[in-house]
Amino acid sequence: MYGGPQTISGSIIHILCRYPILVVPIALGLIFGIPNLSQVAEDSLPSSMITFAFDDGYFSTYEKAFPILEKYTFPATVFVISSVIGEPGHMTAEQILELADKGWEIGSHTETHSDLTQLTDEQLKHELVNSKQHLEELGLIVKNFASPYGKYDERVIKMIAKYYDSHRTAWPDGLNDLPLDNLNRYYLKSVSVEARTTIEEVKEWVIKAKNEGKWLILLFHRIDETGDYNWTSRDFEEIVKFVHEEKFKGVSIKEMR
Ligand SMILES: [Zn+2]
Repeated sequence: MYGGPQTISGSIIHILCRYPILVVPIALGLIFGIPNLSQVAEDSLPSSMITFAFDDGYFSTYEKAFPILEKYTFPATVFVISSVIGEPGHMTAEQILELADKGWEIGSHTETHSDLTQLTDEQLKHELVNSKQHLEELGLIVKNFASPYGKYDERVIKMIAKYYDSHRTAWPDGLNDLPLDNLNRYYLKSVSVEARTTIEEVKEWVIKAKNEGKWLILLFHRIDETGDYNWTSRDFEEIVKFVHEEKFKGVSIKEMR
């Protein structure tokens, strides 16, 4: 007579007396069943963050990676070398604008892809400012930067900080702590996916980011082309699918303030 159900009804009546606004939700709960609480807890956890990043603005980013990311509704950030837009093997301005229109972020990867640490102050400023201007003249909003060859020093970072909200590095591989502060946003780490990188290695980084609650930036160059920085679209899709199944939230770098 005094078992569990009666105790639950008693406490529900007690809750309703104190919070009459809960009548409808509780009634629905009793009619349709109380949801699995562990499922609710799982769903309300903040999802892990991932950014798909592409360097140099290759045509294969548009032709191969873009449709796969669209299929899984992930955005991306592409760091474009402004002087080679429309050159063979690179995206045209129209293709870049289409990506931006579909929610991609366009970042700067300099004007001429120089090693920034070897430039004079004036040349360095030119690479940072002209590339941004060139992209903005196309109608793009350019907030973030990635240095060519992952090469930078303190002088380069100081200059980048004058014109950009963040700077993404290319090596060594690593994950990012959140929230960002004014220092770590200029040393954003990525995991560079290259010809020698295996699917298993990338999956290990994905799981590590999930377990540690860190932000993963996966960096790609060429897809279905050749060379040390190429990956196949088949492997790329396997990783995108895996990240989707692991319930990651896809973000562009500009979304991480
Ligand atoms: Zn590059």
